[in-house]
Amino acid sequence: MAKHLARPSPHEPHQARSRAALVAWQSHAGTRSVPSRLQQACFKRDRHTCQRCGYVGRQGDGTLHADHIHNRAAGGGDELANLVTLCRPCHDAKTTRERAAGVAARKARCRLPAEPHPGLRGGG
Ligand SMILES: [Zn+2]
Repeated sequence: MAKHLARPSPHEPHQARSRAALVAWQSHAGTRSVPSRLQQACFKRDRHTCQRCGYVGRQGDGTLHADHIHNRAAGGGDELANLVTLCRPCHDAKTTRERAAGVAARKARCRLPAEPHPGLRGGG
């Protein structure tokens, strides 16, 4: 009775790899940051000044953000012409507004049909 019992290790290395990939993906999805070279070019072009309120930041102090004029969801790209320097509060306000607009658009698309489902009409 020579049963073949050779099995691969229960701790498959691919599990560790996929977990690392997931973490990398999550952290990327969380930040969605502009490439730092482009970000610096954007700050430099705008003289480290928030283009909404006029706040002047300092290089590397983290108070300025490079914002997409047309966000990625709307098809905007990572090119300098589509980036604008905003301070953090202005960027947060814009993000909140865009998110609210996105929610409103989704709600409008997901309206219930005016007619009830035929199966729910009862009668007969
Ligand atoms: Zn601002």
